[in-house]
Amino acid sequence: MPFTPFHMGLGLAAKAVAPRLISLQVFGLAQVAMDIEPAIGMAMGKDVLHGWTHTLWGAVPIAVACVVTWRALEGRRIWRWTFERLRIESLWVTSFFGVWSHVLLDALIHRDMGSTRALLPGIGDIFYSHEVVEIACLVAASVGLLTLGVRLGVKAPLEAIWSNLRDPVAWFRKPL
Ligand SMILES: [Zn+2]
Repeated sequence: MPFTPFHMGLGLAAKAVAPRLISLQVFGLAQVAMDIEPAIGMAMGKDVLHGWTHTLWGAVPIAVACVVTWRALEGRRIWRWTFERLRIESLWVTSFFGVWSHVLLDALIHRDMGSTRALLPGIGDIFYSHEVVEIACLVAASVGLLTLGVRLGVKAPLEAIWSNLRDPVAWFRKPL
């Protein structure tokens, strides 16, 4: 669970490679959806936190749930945040990339993911430490952000952030 935000590093890197195909919002939704099971397990004090959702097959219904949820929410607005409308292929690709990359990353470090680890060639008994994978995710995030900055330009996003910060009262105003 504490690891969830680090997964976004891969999302940012993927967005930099294919900005029109990958949606960061949907990728983020997939990460949160994936870690609902471990969060419940943690709250209940279970020994095995990564159960059926953290397998390649078990992640499939999570990806489908993300697609269905997004279709229900897209175009809606909460405060100043709009659930972006997406092409259907972008929605499917991002959801599946989100859940499967999550399973593979988690399998590198969690001991309770034996069945998925068995599928990874050459990994054997090697367990990566949280720190190593977290640093790799931060590097992916930095490279991704830099690449996006170069590809898409930094002016428009910075102006959008600034206009939000300048007018916090508007966050609570109803959209017109
Ligand atoms: Zn996880």
